[in-house]
Amino acid sequence: MANGEMKGAGAEGTGAGPVEGARGKPQPPREWPLLPGLAAIKTPYFHIVGYSVAGEESVIQIPELNLNFDIGKCPRPALTADFCLLTHGHIDHSAGIPYYLSQRFFQGMKPGTILCPAKIARPLSDIIHSWAGLEGKVTEHTIVPMQVGDEYELRKGLIARAFATRHTVSSIGFSIIDRREKLRADLLEQNLPGHMLRKMKEAGEKITYTLDVPLVAYTGDTSMGETLLQPGVMDAKILLTECTFFEPDHTKRARQGQHLHVRELLEVLPQLKNELILLTHVSRRTHLKAAKRVFAEGLAKLTNPPKVEFFMDYQQRLMVKPGRAAPFTVEEKALGEGAE
Ligand SMILES: [Zn+2]
Ligand SMILES: [Zn+2]
Repeated sequence: MANGEMKGAGAEGTGAGPVEGARGKPQPPREWPLLPGLAAIKTPYFHIVGYSVAGEESVIQIPELNLNFDIGKCPRPALTADFCLLTHGHIDHSAGIPYYLSQRFFQGMKPGTILCPAKIARPLSDIIHSWAGLEGKVTEHTIVPMQVGDEYELRKGLIARAFATRHTVSSIGFSIIDRREKLRADLLEQNLPGHMLRKMKEAGEKITYTLDVPLVAYTGDTSMGETLLQPGVMDAKILLTECTFFEPDHTKRARQGQHLHVRELLEVLPQLKNELILLTHVSRRTHLKAAKRVFAEGLAKLTNPPKVEFFMDYQQRLMVKPGRAAPFTVEEKALGEGAE
């Protein structure tokens, strides 16, 4: 747990040189964890790095897609993504934005782009401009207001699409779509040479069709199980969904805060087609082990359920050498290697 780590580092210090081991052998200098440890998972498609605990911080980075979903605080790796896709304005999802923008400028990186629910675009812009009063200038940035169904091209063939969620404030989820133009199946069958296809195209015939493959969907905070049943969400290869509450007497809390309770998730789970579902945003009120136990009990009653993992089960310490501020390493765990 984070608190335990903090105590350990504080009590024993971080600057110790070689120390005598129990058997009198000199031990190499110890490494101490940076806080908080990020989760890091290697999937067949990309890595997923981040941290997500309800009310504390949510930031989910996919380095290969050049994006962060939400940015509650701004852990150092999150700086490297050119896009932040903000699901809503609650501070544990959004407070990292001014730091992210300013640090990227400071480190000579190009201005960041923030996609966010259209209704919070203005207040978000206001807060970035207010920060100029502290920093002496407005950090260059782009804000892209998004309505449900809107699409934004992150790079050629990679689309972010906003989907509906329901929370206590304006909110959207995002699915990331790999969009490709494929040759029509009937033309593919005929095995036509390139110059003939070119001719058809020049004559105005549509020789391709668009294939959309939803790679990953992220809900942010939401209260409705049906959120997960939307196209682009239920069939995304990887789904990151919140599941905040697990205990039976927390259903009222879930309703009030407009979050998912595990019971609602289990209801829709059999309909989901995702290759992997990662649960995020678990409440600190429930220990991760207890949440996993409750979830496993529910899962056992389902036939053929999809593969589900707890994101923060993949949390690890980022190690720094004593006396060195800069480099640290993330050792990603492959799927199925989460904590027991
Ligand atoms: Zn939240
Ligand atoms: Zn929220």
